[in-house]
Amino acid sequence: MKNNTKINFLPKQYAKNKKYNINHSYLVEQFSDYKKIFSKIANVVKYGDYTLGNEVINFEKDLSKRMGSKFAISVGNGTDALYLVLKALGIGRGDEVITTPYTFIATVGSIVTAGAKPVFVDIKEDYNIDENKIISKITKKTKAIMPVHWAGRPCEMNTIRKIAKKYNLKIVQDSCHAIDSRYYGKQIVSFGDACTFSLHPLKNFNVWGDGGFILTNNKSLAKKLFLLRNHGLENRNKCKMFGYNSRLDTIQACVANYKLKTKLTNITKKRIQNAHLFDKYLGEISEIITVKRNKNIKEVFHLYHLNVKHSRDKLIKYLNKNLIDAKIHYPIPVHLQPASKFLKYKRGDFPMAEKIANSTVSLPVHEFITKEQIAYTSKLIKKFFLNYKK
Ligand SMILES: *Cc1c(COP(=O)(O)O)cnc(C)c1O
Repeated sequence: MKNNTKINFLPKQYAKNKKYNINHSYLVEQFSDYKKIFSKIANVVKYGDYTLGNEVINFEKDLSKRMGSKFAISVGNGTDALYLVLKALGIGRGDEVITTPYTFIATVGSIVTAGAKPVFVDIKEDYNIDENKIISKITKKTKAIMPVHWAGRPCEMNTIRKIAKKYNLKIVQDSCHAIDSRYYGKQIVSFGDACTFSLHPLKNFNVWGDGGFILTNNKSLAKKLFLLRNHGLENRNKCKMFGYNSRLDTIQACVANYKLKTKLTNITKKRIQNAHLFDKYLGEISEIITVKRNKNIKEVFHLYHLNVKHSRDKLIKYLNKNLIDAKIHYPIPVHLQPASKFLKYKRGDFPMAEKIANSTVSLPVHEFITKEQIAYTSKLIKKFFLNYKK
């Protein structure tokens, strides 16, 4: 790379203070047109339309259309989305929910907060729950399966749906990584009772703080969720069921609606292009294992992972030294977290989750990464392994 500034996509004034040249963070660039959103927010203020305002209602309408779901229920964040779905399905104390130990802690946190017991099933090499190991974990207490479409790759929903049908289980899809993904050409919402999403700044589709939403095709579930997120109030004076306060902030709805219409399609497209380019370059390196892609599955690459056969931590150090923000998502699977102690799992219980936690590297893959940066990053990784052998 002749010109180092080419690698640095950040505006000059920010670049000076940044540690990395190829960074996981991209929010300043992504919201460089923030003034357009300010004018929408001005309208909210002008009309005092703060609580479940027009922007929220319009966002839900546009969202359900765009995502191919009958209903979209916006909520306070992605964790609430999971929790509220469990509550609306009547899942709580004494119940078990099957999920993966290789996820962001919020997945498991929502199950525990709802009062139910998380039961883990190991993952496969693609980081997703091993659908063939689910049945052996089903008990009389099992009420739901909560698959996580990790990194934006949909789980094997055909099999999971068959199991759920046979054992009369609900399917709550933690889709926080998987906005715009497809499974055999179909939107993932059609493969379960509900899909939950987060609008956290670090997700593919994001706002300026916390936010989230639920997609479902089930009318009675949607009705319950609309009530539960707003104190169970049917109208100002009538409370149908005791609920919660987990409304999407109207100002965040302005941001979300703007992004939905102007940015999301491109974000998804660029991430996929970037990931495929990484696949091509990294596929040539024998010390690296990348996830086998499946033509029938549209992955949206919230994260781009590779697994190394050895020297993971050294590789990350080397990349960081060369100003590339390589990271680990995540080094400790949930069953080995101190918070999980009461579940009585131990090291070795989920060998694939543990193996991946020890060998995974994630590389920046967002829409502002250039082809040159991808080539440069890949070249450095190749160089690292060439030198390492010596
Ligand atoms: C981000 C995330 C959540 C939680 O979303 P918040 O909006 O941060 O509450 C849940 N599950 C997964 C897999 C996530 O990545």
